[in-house]
Amino acid sequence: MKGLVYGGSGIRSWADVADARIQDPRDAIIRVDAVTICGTDLHILGGDVPEVEAGRVLGHEAVGTVVETGGAVAGLRAGDRVLASCISACGICRYCREGAYGQCRGGGGWILGHTIDGVQSEYARIPFADLST
Ligand SMILES: [Zn+2]
Ligand SMILES: [Zn+2]
Repeated sequence: MKGLVYGGSGIRSWADVADARIQDPRDAIIRVDAVTICGTDLHILGGDVPEVEAGRVLGHEAVGTVVETGGAVAGLRAGDRVLASCISACGICRYCREGAYGQCRGGGGWILGHTIDGVQSEYARIPFADLST
């Protein structure tokens, strides 16, 4: 599939990347229908977010259609139209239970297009899909 790939400060390309696939039972795969570019993406492209490594698919705000769900996803099924949140939530850790999803310590928080591949691509893996769409 194609994705918008960060290549280091000031460098980006629309490139062939590995297909998005289920990696955890709580994941869903969406076909990306629309995305935004926000100021955070511009900061990444400017080299201001050093934890984003070259090769990362950018993007953390999308509307898409579910094409596949992991075995532990209960509330979504193929064909559902979803908004993928820029913040993923495990729903289990102390911070999620207090509603502070951005501070998630269970593997969520702001990870899309940051520490995992994001949504500026044909398809995207959405972690903790029940709580992150
Ligand atoms: Zn943003
Ligand atoms: Zn959490």
